[in-house]
Amino acid sequence: MPYIEPGEYKSIYTEFQSPVSRFDCGQHCAPHNGGEPVCCSTRHAIPVAMVEEWKFLQSRTAMWHIFRPRTSAERKVKEELPRDHRALECHGAAQCERENRALSCRTFPFFPYITKGYEFVGLAYYWQFEDLCWVISNLQIVERQFIGEFVRAYELLFRRIPGELETFRDHSASMRRAFSRMKRTIPLIGRAGDYHEVIPSTGEIRAVSGEAFAKRGLYRNDE
Ligand code: SF4
Ligand code: SF4
Repeated sequence: MPYIEPGEYKSIYTEFQSPVSRFDCGQHCAPHNGGEPVCCSTRHAIPVAMVEEWKFLQSRTAMWHIFRPRTSAERKVKEELPRDHRALECHGAAQCERENRALSCRTFPFFPYITKGYEFVGLAYYWQFEDLCWVISNLQIVERQFIGEFVRAYELLFRRIPGELETFRDHSASMRRAFSRMKRTIPLIGRAGDYHEVIPSTGEIRAVSGEAFAKRGLYRNDE
């Protein structure tokens, strides 16, 4: 059972405001997505919040509503969510209230990478967005301030809601399976902003230089 009150999201939001980088990354992906940043369009990314966060958001803004699926694939995404999570949709990037962004907006495109031994070792990215998200092709531009705030926010959440640690451990295992099939290592940003790769078959973590990370998808040929 979660032990977090809706009001506690106020301090989480206050402590986690830094942008992922000093660049306006939306300017890089939006031109490929009809002018809208990829992560601000539910056609690509559906924000998900725990019910306590959803209650908190409702108490301070009218910017969000419950996501209404348009396709069978979207219905499936919604149906497969844990019971205490909600799929949300905002009014769009043009009307974004920065201070009322959900945690899933603040963290995108990253999730906390959790080892088999339950260690929170760094930030991995949602690999389904490799081809579209410019940040994923430019991991070196991720700011240390952002990394620190990300780590502190999740440490707090894992203390209060241990089930979340399990959820992200499962997600990390899914990423290892996916990268094993692709015969690739997993790029990882360490908690101190250092760079690593995970060997998916064993879970071993090795230090690498940031230049080792490849550009992907739309950004494959960028300088
Ligand atoms: S985080 Fe990625 S998808 Fe979202 S605006 Fe930045 S580049 Fe685009
Ligand atoms: S709240 Fe803002 S950052 Fe989050 S999805 Fe909506 S427009 Fe994007």
